[in-house]
Amino acid sequence: MTLGALGRLAVRSWDAARGAVDRLREAHRQPPRRVRLERFGAIVQLTVPRALVFIDRALARRTVAIGGAGEPAIWAGPETAVGDAPLSAPLEAHLQLTNRCDAGCQGCYTGATPNGAAGEWGLAEWLRAVDALADAGVFHMAIPRSLGGGEVAPAASRSRRSSLASRRRRTVGL
Ligand code: SF4
Repeated sequence: MTLGALGRLAVRSWDAARGAVDRLREAHRQPPRRVRLERFGAIVQLTVPRALVFIDRALARRTVAIGGAGEPAIWAGPETAVGDAPLSAPLEAHLQLTNRCDAGCQGCYTGATPNGAAGEWGLAEWLRAVDALADAGVFHMAIPRSLGGGEVAPAASRSRRSSLASRRRRTVGL
């Protein structure tokens, strides 16, 4: 290897190390976005790096402010291992706003039809669902452009998605 190549390698390694240190510093500056208590401990939603981290009760006691006197009710029983008991709520939810679609694909994965399904929800019901999911501690709600399978009339689709996205921002902050 030539001296020039060695020099370039050294500069790249230095840049990578400095980048890692910067990311660590940033992670310490940014408090967790949210914490959800679970029987095994807690799920912490980090901002930097963006991740959901599962921690046990001991680590949760040391790193997460648990308000009030005594332990939270969800920790009343014995501590479980991750996966031993169901989570208190889903980590994320994908909202399929309609089953109406004209494309007619064979083997449609949602069973969509041009007329949709009977009793499809309107905006008010979906807003209540977003609130309920946020109250349950769901970390992420996906409101896909294609409405998770199915295509409503474009104008209605845009305004409904925009209302739901705005409510989602107010409730889960994403
Ligand atoms: S919802 Fe998707 S898979 Fe189903 S018919 Fe429409 S485009 Fe095809």
